[in-house]
Amino acid sequence: MKFASYWHDTTPAFSGAQAGAVEGRYDVVVIGGGFTGLNAARKLAREGVRVALLEAAHLGAGGSGRNGGHLNNGIAHGYADAKAHLGNDRARHLYRAYDRSIDMIEDLIAEEGIACDFRRAGKLKLASKPSHAAGLRANQELVAREVDPATRWLDRAELEGEVGSQSFHGAAFFEKSAMMHMGRYLSGLADAAVRHGADIWEQAPVTGRRKAGSGWQLDTPRGSLEAETVIAATGGYSAQVPKAPLGYFRKRIIPVGSFVIATRPLADSEVTATLPGNRTCVTSLNIGNYFRLSPDKRLIFGGRARFSARSDQQSDARSGDILRAAMTGVFPHLARVEVDYCWGGLVGMTRDRFPRAGEADGMVYGMGYSGHGAQMSTLLGQVLADLAMGRRDTNPLDGLDWPAVPALNGKPWFLPLAGLWFGLKDRLS
Ligand SMILES: Cc1cc2nc3c(=O)[nH]c(=O)nc-3n(C[C@H](O)[C@H](O)[C@H](O)COP(=O)(O)OP(=O)(O)OC[C@H]3O[C@@H](n4cnc5c(N)ncnc54)[C@H](O)[C@@H]3O)c2cc1C
Repeated sequence: MKFASYWHDTTPAFSGAQAGAVEGRYDVVVIGGGFTGLNAARKLAREGVRVALLEAAHLGAGGSGRNGGHLNNGIAHGYADAKAHLGNDRARHLYRAYDRSIDMIEDLIAEEGIACDFRRAGKLKLASKPSHAAGLRANQELVAREVDPATRWLDRAELEGEVGSQSFHGAAFFEKSAMMHMGRYLSGLADAAVRHGADIWEQAPVTGRRKAGSGWQLDTPRGSLEAETVIAATGGYSAQVPKAPLGYFRKRIIPVGSFVIATRPLADSEVTATLPGNRTCVTSLNIGNYFRLSPDKRLIFGGRARFSARSDQQSDARSGDILRAAMTGVFPHLARVEVDYCWGGLVGMTRDRFPRAGEADGMVYGMGYSGHGAQMSTLLGQVLADLAMGRRDTNPLDGLDWPAVPALNGKPWFLPLAGLWFGLKDRLS
């Protein structure tokens, strides 16, 4: 078994990075080489803006290269909760922004010629307990009535043609959801950004920022550069680089580990017995699971597994064992199937699980996708590019306040308690 992301392992390495020292004067510098930062850089470069991107490790080292591969449409929250928290207009607007983010990815792939197995697969939100079915169904009906008619309820009998498991008690089906090969999309975005004129440095962690004239100087161990505007696109990794000038985000972003395994490619008969519907699937538990088939028919099976703010080989391996047991619980016929990959990454949560984008502490920022950002990060990348060019009207999160989380400074000491609480809620539901 490889302790590596399947997306990384099946994508050719990016070869367009700058080889020399970090230096130069730019209009905009982007910190972070995931979907958000890369699409911001791509869009700015296309508009003729001089843009540089600095990535601490390699492109896709964060969530963008480590996720479960789902492009699920709409808001991950219950829609009634979203309306109560955000108000009717913003909840509708945000739901549609998620839908639009998938349309945007589809258009971008066509425009930039990116081969990444994008497919409108549809998503199933599966009821893990009989008691969850009524709530999921009521949410689906509300969504269908108010914001997304392309959804419907599947009862247990209808699910048989979709998921080869007796574990579920019905599902809400969301037609617009999609899936793609995340690594190939990421490298396609990076190639497009460079083709349009962006300069990208990998292995260039930003460790300092100071005022320089009307703009900023950013320092890395490989040199410094100057730019008028700084975009922070560091997501769940905002606390990973010691001394990074990202204190504002360390007080607001809660990094939480999420983990994934991928089996060997399944035989056709195993595919039919496992996911004949070939959709993205998410279970209804708080500490639940998400799964789909890869382009080469592996089962990619993920979940929170443990409430941890770490993702390294030891932590990933322990979570991999938990995930394997969960996978076998859902699909007993896969008990003996080899697991080829095991990896993990950090999700950047906000307290209310809604993302944020705007301007603060002298930076333009977009992050806090809370595990539901593989799609929205492309849209917010474009929004951040617009903000850097002085345009605010494309931001679906404009004006949403973002108070600091009490006693948080990058290290979420309270995660084990949250894990106990959500586990208890799952057991009692
Ligand atoms: C295991 C896992 C499974 C997931 N599954 C899904 C899914 O199926 N569907 C979905 O919608 N979402 C999923 N997500 C969430 C999704 O992947 C993220 O929301 C999205 O990729 C965030 O993109 P981003 O560009 O904002 O941040 P990231 O991709 O995390 O990129 C941030 C980058 O910033 C860099 N960085 C940090 N500090 C510095 C610094 N000081 N200097 C320079 N660079 C720095 C990091 O190295 C990193 O590469 C998952 C996440 C994880 C971890």
